[in-house]
Amino acid sequence: MMTARQDKAERFYLQSLVREIADSDHRIHICMRHLLPQRETVEVHCGEFGGWFRGVQVCGNAWYCPVCAVRLAAIRRSQLESAIDSAKEAGYVPFFVTYTLSHGPADSLQDTLNSILAAYRFTRSGRKWQYIKTEYDVLGSIRATEVTHGENGFHPHFHELLFVKAKGTGVISQGYEYTANAIERHIYDLWTGALAKQNKTVTRDHGIKVKFGTRYIADYIAKFDRLPTKTGAIAYEVANSTTKKGRGENKTMFEVLHAYGLGEDTDRNKAIFREYMTATHGKSVLQFTRGLKEKLGIGVQDDESELLDAQPGDTLLCELTAGEWRIIKKYNVQAAILSCADAGDRAGIYAILDILWERELKAIDKRWNKVG
Ligand SMILES: [Zn+2]
Repeated sequence: MMTARQDKAERFYLQSLVREIADSDHRIHICMRHLLPQRETVEVHCGEFGGWFRGVQVCGNAWYCPVCAVRLAAIRRSQLESAIDSAKEAGYVPFFVTYTLSHGPADSLQDTLNSILAAYRFTRSGRKWQYIKTEYDVLGSIRATEVTHGENGFHPHFHELLFVKAKGTGVISQGYEYTANAIERHIYDLWTGALAKQNKTVTRDHGIKVKFGTRYIADYIAKFDRLPTKTGAIAYEVANSTTKKGRGENKTMFEVLHAYGLGEDTDRNKAIFREYMTATHGKSVLQFTRGLKEKLGIGVQDDESELLDAQPGDTLLCELTAGEWRIIKKYNVQAAILSCADAGDRAGIYAILDILWERELKAIDKRWNKVG
């Protein structure tokens, strides 16, 4: 098991790798480093989603900034949980739908990602979708986009929670398993047609999967804000499970990043990650169908910069001066400060600062003595 401190350290370590890979003018360079304009202090907060700084710039990238992505995922995980709860209260159950398309090593992510998005939109636009919507009394859906990479190149795919009236008439009265199969057949039919318009194909085995059962949903939610790499980068040497992965198995993008950091296939992994950064630009990771948030009465807040601010209910632990922040940044101890904040440990934060100041003063003395 990884400790909270290792977990925080890992996010910042992986973020430093993204900075290495990104262009020099990329926003990732300011994330968790520069103060917001006109700010002279940094507030350290703690709350439901752990420790967080307020007054520091963030990049807000939910795809590839390990610091922002994990924080956003934790907040979205709680949105998903309340969405499922209020849907259940309103008499709807979630089906778990996975959408994939066939691809090869030579396909660019830009191309496959655009195709899968276009195909998805197309399935939602026609009369056949209206039929499914009415037949199963669909309330709406929440779709997450994921990208992994393996022997067949980039593998963009969607996971979707489709909310269907639990005690509807017609097919659903035959039971959930039966309904899952029926929905799968309908969506597969729509999906192959939509992919054909994009000159893409898919196999029956992999194209569309519709599952019912809380364990699928629970698994999905559980991995939502899991650490970037499956084992945790710091615990890597101990667990070593990234290398134990089966040959055909795909890597998450953070695993690709981690492999780059270890010096494995450096140029290739760097190129893969850069392509991922470019192709995901302007696309959203999690998408609620229009009006669903309102119907479920969950927060409609979507703006990433607002989600990345301190959250309602967070408590202010302490306020750091610009000088204290400068030294935190200089020694790259943001992760250590945040893990103290996770634990509500204000004294721990000041203990770290004391150590840093001592080091700084020693350095000043050394320089002074040299002059002497
Ligand atoms: Zn960021």
